[in-house]
Amino acid sequence: MSDTIFGKIISGEIPSEFLYEDEHCIAINDINPQAPVHVLVIPKGEYISMVDFSSAASDIEIVDFNRAVGEVAKIKGLIETGYRTLANHGTNARQDVFHYHVHVVGGRDLGGMIKKES
Ligand code: 5GP
Repeated sequence: MSDTIFGKIISGEIPSEFLYEDEHCIAINDINPQAPVHVLVIPKGEYISMVDFSSAASDIEIVDFNRAVGEVAKIKGLIETGYRTLANHGTNARQDVFHYHVHVVGGRDLGGMIKKES
């Protein structure tokens, strides 16, 4: 398991409530939510970001992960009002945790997609 905070959550070393779990992924509330709903969907496998996951994960891991993202949106009641998914990779995106994860954010008007250059 990856030596990241998410690896430790997946292994149970750090206790955390799972909003969703299947064979290949989990979903947890973000510790520092940016909106009323801010969930992280995390594959159990040790992948760093989207490029790693999409090239190295098995088909079933990728299928289950995408289904989990949709399932979380349903569980959190976001289908009617809308939500955003995003995944950070590397420096420009300010990725903090180097274990792949997708943010599912909603529960309010999220504004424009990307902060404009000042
Ligand atoms: P990144 O910038 O890597 O896409 O986002 C990492 C996310 O993980 C951040 O939104 C941050 O608040 C969240 N996070 C960091 N540490 C923890 C933790 O220990 N528990 C939970 N639930 N979320 C965390």
